[in-house]
Order: sequence, then structure tokens, then C-alpha cells
Amino acid sequence: MNVLVINAGSSSLKYQLLDTKTREVFAKGNAERIGIEGSFIGHEEYGKKDKLEVELPDHRTAIKHIFDILATVDEKPEGIGHRVVQGGWYFPESAVVTDETLGWVREVAPLAPLHNYAEADVIEICREMFPELGNVIVPDTAFHYNMPERAWRYAIPRDVVDTYHVRKYGAHGTSHRYIWRTVDEFMGGAAHKLVSCHLGSGASLCAIEDGACMDTTMGLTPLDGLIMGTRCGTVDPATVFYLNRVAGMSIDEIDTMMNKKSGLLAVSGVSSDSRDVCAGAAEGNEHCAMAIEMFCYRVGQLFAEMAASMGGVDTMAFTAGIGENSVELRQGVADKLAWLGVKIDPELNTIRSDDPRVISTPDSAVTVLVVPTNEELMIALDVEALLG
Ligand code: ADP
Repeated sequence: MNVLVINAGSSSLKYQLLDTKTREVFAKGNAERIGIEGSFIGHEEYGKKDKLEVELPDHRTAIKHIFDILATVDEKPEGIGHRVVQGGWYFPESAVVTDETLGWVREVAPLAPLHNYAEADVIEICREMFPELGNVIVPDTAFHYNMPERAWRYAIPRDVVDTYHVRKYGAHGTSHRYIWRTVDEFMGGAAHKLVSCHLGSGASLCAIEDGACMDTTMGLTPLDGLIMGTRCGTVDPATVFYLNRVAGMSIDEIDTMMNKKSGLLAVSGVSSDSRDVCAGAAEGNEHCAMAIEMFCYRVGQLFAEMAASMGGVDTMAFTAGIGENSVELRQGVADKLAWLGVKIDPELNTIRSDDPRVISTPDSAVTVLVVPTNEELMIALDVEALLG
């Protein structure tokens, strides 16, 4: 089935047209700076790249342009899959778009206002403009929906939890689900307790036992857990009250600080990009060295937390920008887990490939893999399952 996968942000819209059978990507691209001056669409078709400077005042115009561009591609979309950041308390799995399911995306939007509203608008526009195509909602939280109550419940009053739906939702679920699938297939069913390590600019770990999510490091929002490019990860929640009361910072200022000005960027003082921070550390910048040390320390700590949630761990998979590419940070994380018997082979660790691969030594207590993620394929497979 040829599926168009759409990942809409507040000012961007990524798309990919692919075949679920052959996994071939016919075309992909990104409409950027929607609603901002200097908008353009970076488009790639059968491997050929192009940059189109077009005015994109809104998402509707962007979608119209994208479909015009896609009209030149021989393969036509037979369904559309929409990545939705927050599925809230409604989506234990992906769902076909109806008035009701689209209403749910809007209803839970206060939990992810920067994403869900734009995503719901885009879904609505696609339904309206291409009524012959079915649309599917693929929430990033769905994989975590059925984690045990002990993992999702916060120890705050029940009426607050019930009224405001305050709980752990997690994120990166589509990636973690894809990683489980791929590891299960690659290991021929030998993996049972997997810690999936999605380490990109956003980063989260997920404890997966025989395909079921047992816990994850992101919480009500993707701010929780690991240290990320610009997000602080877990800090004492009282930090917010303190900064508000004593430093006079507004809630919005603290929100921006913790989401956009923290993490690797804040500790290194150099960059949110791990490559720059590693380069700084190699040149002797102590703040960069501390940022790297803290990043690996937290991955190691929360890895143990994930393992504890399953009563053990037999497999670990690195994925996303850092997990797939950074030899240095994979080694740094493995060093923090040496006490658990985790050992990676320095030579295997340097091999570059687009395929899943084992990088641990034969005597490692945990099998360590690098598994390139493919959220678009996972979304397309859901569309095929629901509409195909
Ligand atoms: P996002 O969450 O935005 O999708 P990515 O998964 O693209 O993020 O990850 C971005 C991170 O991956 C950055 O910190 C970047 O330094 C790191 N990264 C990307 N490519 C490489 C590479 N070739 N070597 C080392 N690190 C890389």
C-alpha cells in the first residue's frame, strides 16, 4: 500500500510517501517556516533533492503545495497516516479518523498545545481536500497507554488525576514500538526484556517486556526523564515553585527555560547538538565534558530504573540521532552500565550501517544493539492495517 505519512508541527510539516510492502520511499520532504517569512519546501523525489521557495501562510497552503508536488510522482497515496504527539486518555492504539476521533485529538490538545492543534487542523484539511483518501491517527503515546498503573499513576490526589487527566503518558511510542518489532524479528524471539533507548534531541527510554510497555522515562509531557538537547529532564518539581516565588520568573518563562534553554545546551554553554558538545569536550572545555558526563550518567541511571520495572533486562537497543550515530556516547552509556555486566565491543561499536546490529561482546550480560528507527514506516504499517 502507498501511504503518505504526515508529521505536522506548529510551523513545519514533514511528509513521506512510501510503499509498505517494499518499504521504498518514493518522495519525502519538509515544509518549513509555515506562517513565517522565508518559508520553503525541501523536497526529495526518488533520491533527487530540490528546494522550493513558496509562500506558506498556513498549513492548508502547505498541504496544497505538497500534493501539487506529489502529483508528479507516479505512485499515488492510497491512505494518509498522521503522527499525533498526544493521544491522551483516548488512544490505546492508532485509529481511523472520524468526527469522534478527531474530536479527541482536539480535546486532549491542552496537554500538547504546540502540536495537537496543528495536527488536528492538518487532519481536517486532508479530509476536506481529499475525501477519497482514508486518514489514520497514530498517537505517539498509544504504545504506553497500557503500562501498569503503578507506572503511570502519579502520587497526587486522585480527584486531581481524574479531573485533569494528570498521569504519565510518555512519548516516542511509535519509535519504541518499531524498535521492539525490529529487535524481536532480528533476535528471532530471543529478546524478552528490552530497554529501548531513543536518544535524539528529544530522548526517552522505554521498558518493553514481550512487546508490552512496562514503563517509560517521559511523563505527562516530553520534558521528564533524561537530559536532552534543550530540555532539562527530571528536576525536583519544587524548582518551579521556587523560581516563581523567589526569582520572580513567570510560569511561561520557566516553561521556556526548561524546554528550550536547558539540557546539553545549558550545561555545555555551547550547543544543544551532541556533536558540538563532544567536540568541545575533546578540546578541553570542562562544561562540555560535564554535559556529556551528565547525559551518560542519567541514561545509565534511568536504564537501571527501566530494568527494575521489568525485574531484569536481557536486551538494550540504541536508536535515533545519538543512539544510531554517536560511537562516543554509546560507549559512555555502556561504561555507566559496566556494573550490570554490560560490555560493548569497541570495534563493533564503530561500524556504520543502516541495518540493526549487535555491538556487545559475547560475554556481555545484556545484548546491546543499534537499531535505526523508522517512525514513518511504523505509521504507514498502521495505516495499512486499518485501511489496507
Ligand atoms: P530529533 O529528536 O530532532 O529527531 P535526532 O534523532 O535527529 O533528533 O537527533 C539529533 C541528535 O543526534 C543531535 O544531538 C546530534 O548531535 C546527534 N547526531 C546526529 N547525527 C549524528 C552523527 N552522525 N554522529 C553523532 N551524533 C549525531
